[in-house]
Amino acid sequence: MERLQKVIAQSGITSRRKAEQLILDGRVYVNGKQIKELGTKVDMKHDKVVVDGVPLDKEEPVYFLLYKPTGVISSVSDEHGRKVVTDFIPTDKRIFPIGRLDSDTSGLILLTNDGDFANMLMHPKYKVYKTYIAKVEGIPLRETLKKLEKGIHLEDGKTAPAKVKVTRTDKKKNTSIVEISIREGKNRQVRRMFDAIGHPVIKLKREQYGFLNLKGLNAGEFRELKPHEVKQLR
Ligand code: URA
Repeated sequence: MERLQKVIAQSGITSRRKAEQLILDGRVYVNGKQIKELGTKVDMKHDKVVVDGVPLDKEEPVYFLLYKPTGVISSVSDEHGRKVVTDFIPTDKRIFPIGRLDSDTSGLILLTNDGDFANMLMHPKYKVYKTYIAKVEGIPLRETLKKLEKGIHLEDGKTAPAKVKVTRTDKKKNTSIVEISIREGKNRQVRRMFDAIGHPVIKLKREQYGFLNLKGLNAGEFRELKPHEVKQLR
């Protein structure tokens, strides 16, 4: 038996908090009976939960790790018919990406049909480092990179401390490869951080998400997460 709001959130249709509101608003029925109490427990094997008239057939949760190629949209559909991340994973489950990578960023992205899990990973208090490999213009000075390490002011606030390391420089082409690890996920954050120090990003790839990496995968390939990996992320 699980709490009704948890079951609704796990189905991926909304967050736990919004699921509570759905219940309070009288939009949820269990076995044909309207339920407005948050404490209600249900067993999805036997109970039929309906939200706004639509049955909530909870799918078996699935978890995938995709190496997103550049040019692919982090969404389940695109009105302009461009390729989206779910196109790469053959499943009949209603999966969606956990957070997003820019279309022009490649790399590691997680997908699931488990809304609760996704909400947890995307919550600001969930502080896992994501590591990016950025090819940037110019050769940044150590003092300049220190600004990123300390946190830098962007128009939507100061960034949290980052870990930054130059791994290669090309003096002829005047470019550098910089490894940067951040815990947040503001819109186009890495690009904006490098813009702010005068070293615009030429190419960006997310290499790591906490302890997960892209080992063994080429762009466009995916794998299922192992149960112990899902557990470790929780
Ligand atoms: N930072 C960016 O600028 N882009 C991404 O896709 C992810 C992080």
